[in-house]
Amino acid sequence: MSAGRPYRGRFAPSPTGDLHLGSAAAALVAWLDARAAGGALVVRVEDLDPPRTVPGAADRQMDDLRWLGLDWDEGPDVGGPHTPYVQSARGARYEGALAALAGRGLTYLCDCSRAEIARVASAPHAGDEGPRYPGTCRALGMAPRPFRRAPAVRFAVPADAEIALDDRWQGRHVERVAEQVGDFVLRRGDGVFAYQLAVVVDDLAMEITDVVRGADLLGSSARQALLARALGGEAPRFAHLPLVLASDGARLAKRAGSPSIRGRREAGERSPSVVASIARVLGLVDASVRQATPRELLAAWNPSRLVGVASVRAP
Ligand code: GLU
Repeated sequence: MSAGRPYRGRFAPSPTGDLHLGSAAAALVAWLDARAAGGALVVRVEDLDPPRTVPGAADRQMDDLRWLGLDWDEGPDVGGPHTPYVQSARGARYEGALAALAGRGLTYLCDCSRAEIARVASAPHAGDEGPRYPGTCRALGMAPRPFRRAPAVRFAVPADAEIALDDRWQGRHVERVAEQVGDFVLRRGDGVFAYQLAVVVDDLAMEITDVVRGADLLGSSARQALLARALGGEAPRFAHLPLVLASDGARLAKRAGSPSIRGRREAGERSPSVVASIARVLGLVDASVRQATPRELLAAWNPSRLVGVASVRAP
């Protein structure tokens, strides 16, 4: 994997609104892991989906992260050698990657509608890609033809592709991508580059060695490792943070109505109190701890304390 390269981590928020507790927890843990390894941390704004992107949200999120006591070495506000750090400004790189994959015969154009896919798919499952794509358009390749609607670009997943990842906190994850996900979308019919493509292109270009993020993205890792290899690179090491549960059992990131960091700030709560509440839910401090700073948590950083983590591998 990434052995020998200096640790480079990243936090990649989607600016779809104010920073939630779940995203703040992921950012805090990415920061702790990078700083404990003496590594660099990159902030990259993932604003590829225009209707979901809220103007100004990226700046507000970064302001909230700084208020929590986090810092980073490269990002939209501090610059760095891999600028721009905003995905909406990196389209030419994604185009280049698509062209490289197309040149190797690994892409095809697909004008199937969702309804058609759902009808043909034998075993619909509720994955993030929807039902597994049955491969209807695969044999038609990239050749222009009379399309029924603006076509998407799909990745032709090699039939035998089995990806085995040793997640630092979740253990071994094995996925047969062709069977479990099928040919996934790299660019949607409306021209929007898919998250899977953009994240891989950027992690390679930004020389990311370590991805620390919520376990809701564990299922994307195999696709990302497959794409990284197809692009001639190597996948980063992954460390997926168990999905932390609020006291009522709801997933922290998705809890309807859970106050954003901004909301708690504006209600007058102080940063060490918010940081301590995140650290308590993560299991990093005892239930009695009411105040904490990221620097204090760093001094005591021990990822095996994370709730739901049984074994830990060093970066
Ligand atoms: N932008 C993604 C999100 O906010 C995170 C992507 C990643 O960490 O790979 O959910």
